Amino acid sequence: MSQTGNPGGNQRPRTRPAGSERALSESYDTALLDLDGVVYAGGKAIAHAVESLATARSGGMHLAYVTNNALRTPDAVAGHLTELGIPTGPSDVITSAQAVARLVSEQVPVGARVLVVGGEGLRVALRERGLEPVESADDDPVAVVQGYGGPELAWGRFAEACYAIARGVPWFASNTDLTIPSGRGIAPGNGAAVEVVRIATGAEPQVAGKPLPPMHRETILRTGAERALVVGDRLDTDIEGAFNGGVDSLLVLTGVTDGAQLLAARPEHRPTYVDADLRGMLTGQPEVAPVDEGFACGGWVAAARGDALVIEGEGEALDGLRALCAVAWTAAGDGVCALDGGKALARLGL
Ligand SMILES: [Mg+2]
Repeated sequence: MSQTGNPGGNQRPRTRPAGSERALSESYDTALLDLDGVVYAGGKAIAHAVESLATARSGGMHLAYVTNNALRTPDAVAGHLTELGIPTGPSDVITSAQAVARLVSEQVPVGARVLVVGGEGLRVALRERGLEPVESADDDPVAVVQGYGGPELAWGRFAEACYAIARGVPWFASNTDLTIPSGRGIAPGNGAAVEVVRIATGAEPQVAGKPLPPMHRETILRTGAERALVVGDRLDTDIEGAFNGGVDSLLVLTGVTDGAQLLAARPEHRPTYVDADLRGMLTGQPEVAPVDEGFACGGWVAAARGDALVIEGEGEALDGLRALCAVAWTAAGDGVCALDGGKALARLGL
């Protein structure tokens, strides 16, 4: 276990998953948990999430939920989690709406009018920072803030943003996730909506959400975390956000990331730990050890042979994946691994 973030950009890239003798829930004081693909999917709790979070919490770990979705208020998110069997108060939920509201408030006077293109979560977050949400470019806003507005957001809202931005009003975005999962498939996210305004105006927004520093700063300010562990399913938001914030991270495989993507991860996308699901918070993590031909973990030895990764042995598939990560990341250095991991992953059933 080590703090392996890279805020200064001068540390060596991570070359293998870390081991930990103690349970992660005991080694870190606060878990900064992503929601979709980690705690729930399609609105329903992911297997083992409810029990694992209850156990971590009863052991003294502080749990906070960190979402790039600016539509829902912390109250609404906390209510949803509590309904799923994860008792949560609104102060344990941090949204990109809160992070962008703070960013706006640092650049405009108290009480300033801010044009909102988005949902209730943004309006509540702006009021919390003493700003006045307005709906029209003709209301003389001093800033424009854009966040996910849900499927009902009217096209005319983008026009209001464009009118204000064309007058020189600074533009902020809660996050730039291009897509958002829905119960029926992949839907356009706030990043896609931001592109509409960017194309029409040629302007560039200031962005708050994961993986950027304003979001991480918001989570640390609100949780008071001293040893934070980011827990997420996406390499380019959760894990990169942890890297940028200089804190450790646990990637769980219950969401959008598969083994092949993990092996091909760039340095800022390499998590400190990898586990199947949130039960990984409650256990130690096995060591990945260099051996003559490559790296060993559990009953597996992984190596590079020709232009491919190979794996031999037996045991937990996840240990094999950890050993493969070590070979791939070592070979990649500060780039992306070009070795083919397809057969090795198939051997592990991943
Ligand atoms: Mg996620």
